[in-house]
Amino acid sequence: MMKLAIIGYGPGGVAAAVTAKTFARDTEVTIITEEESNAHRRPGISLAIRTPETEVLDIDDWSLDSLKKKGINVMTGTRVIDCDMSSKTLITKKKDGTSLNINFDKLIIATGGVPIVPPVDGADLEGVLTIKNIFDARMIGNRLDSINSIVVIGAGFSGLEMAEQFHRLGKQVHIVIRSRILRTLLEEELSNEVLKRIPSSINVHIGSSITSINGNGHVESVTIQDKEIPVDAVICMTGVRPNIVIAEKMGLKLGPYGGILVNHKMETSNPDVYAVGDCAEITDSITGKTFLMPVASMAARGGRQAAVLAIGLNKVYDDLAIRYQYDRIFSTDIISIGLSSTLANDFEIETSIHYFEDPAEFAKIALIADKDGRLVGGQVVAARMGARIGYQIYSGIKRGVKVSEEPLLKPRYTQLHELLESTLGPIRSLED
Ligand SMILES: Cc1cc2nc3c(=O)[nH]c(=O)nc-3n(C[C@H](O)[C@H](O)[C@H](O)COP(=O)(O)OP(=O)(O)OC[C@H]3O[C@@H](n4cnc5c(N)ncnc54)[C@H](O)[C@@H]3O)c2cc1C
Repeated sequence: MMKLAIIGYGPGGVAAAVTAKTFARDTEVTIITEEESNAHRRPGISLAIRTPETEVLDIDDWSLDSLKKKGINVMTGTRVIDCDMSSKTLITKKKDGTSLNINFDKLIIATGGVPIVPPVDGADLEGVLTIKNIFDARMIGNRLDSINSIVVIGAGFSGLEMAEQFHRLGKQVHIVIRSRILRTLLEEELSNEVLKRIPSSINVHIGSSITSINGNGHVESVTIQDKEIPVDAVICMTGVRPNIVIAEKMGLKLGPYGGILVNHKMETSNPDVYAVGDCAEITDSITGKTFLMPVASMAARGGRQAAVLAIGLNKVYDDLAIRYQYDRIFSTDIISIGLSSTLANDFEIETSIHYFEDPAEFAKIALIADKDGRLVGGQVVAARMGARIGYQIYSGIKRGVKVSEEPLLKPRYTQLHELLESTLGPIRSLED
């Protein structure tokens, strides 16, 4: 019986396990995770600050029980501390000090990322916070009484989410943004649209960075552009770096951004090992350039790809490169799909940006086209219905449409008509 070991119980690890079991039922699949509970949703994790005991973040299909029923063994509270590749053995350690060796034929590494703390004076003070999982969010949620004012560093999706939660809790919130909101994911016009929707009671320090965090043992203030601002806590939402502790011990090749180097099939430099999700640095099959893409959908797609190859199937999925990120923050749908002009620039792909507005939904839309006018990305900032517009962009990219092809963004009544016809059959108007 083929043995597949997976390190990591996030979207990458779970997608890999379920895929392997679906296509090859007799594979022995073991997930190893140092966390001690059911898997949970990381998007929206800021909710656990307001409501630490929330169950909204649980994912029933990923629970230990559900996976057990599928024949997948999940070893929780177990840290992989080393790997002997000559005997294909993982060496693990439990909290109580007991150790267990796990043999495998194929290994998928899905160890995620480690939050980045900016290297400024005072970053080691108590009150400088990071969030990796629900336990961190709960810990902050249980200490809220000691936080009246907080600085959020970073204006990605999760930084904005944190700012919104602390604001809703009635805390005084500062957001420190080095360049602009969601710089790599939104065009400047759309970044500015999000900025306009941030409540004026939140202090936004745009074009700024923290030069020091000050205090005696605990955070008391921060210095932003020579100005000292008293605060009780600082939360660093400046992204993650790949968790490569085990990969380094195994001698796997790393990429220039410090992730485990994989090709578009998630294969590492060792033929029996794959890496997926936030720990992996993917090589683009067309340009040969590498990139980190720490988003849940990419982790899940990578997990699926690695698993089909690990169990001996030859399928290569072609949709690995279409990123789809959605969040609803400050009563606004924010969506970024595929390439933004900033990401395209990194790949030296020439792009043009086309702006649209849908006044009915207070929506601003940016479509990104390559030099042949083909849609390669798009973004939406809208009061509501953003996901529907986003889906049209996503399917347009998949179909390879040109921006000049009309109507790329169909009016709402046409979409509804088509949706109804697809379920009810042809609809005639009363005049017919
Ligand atoms: C606060 C926050 C908000 C986010 N919001 C969004 C969002 O809105 N949309 C989005 O797409 N993405 C979001 N993300 C990112 C998303 O959560 C990650 O991209 C995704 O979880 C990565 O999945 P993964 O499988 O690579 O690893 P992870 O989900 O990080 O899981 C890593 C796993 O590896 C295990 N592990 C690591 N090292 C070891 C070891 N040595 N031994 C045993 N186990 C080990 C851990 O226990 C864990 O189970 C957010 C992340 C955070 C932290």
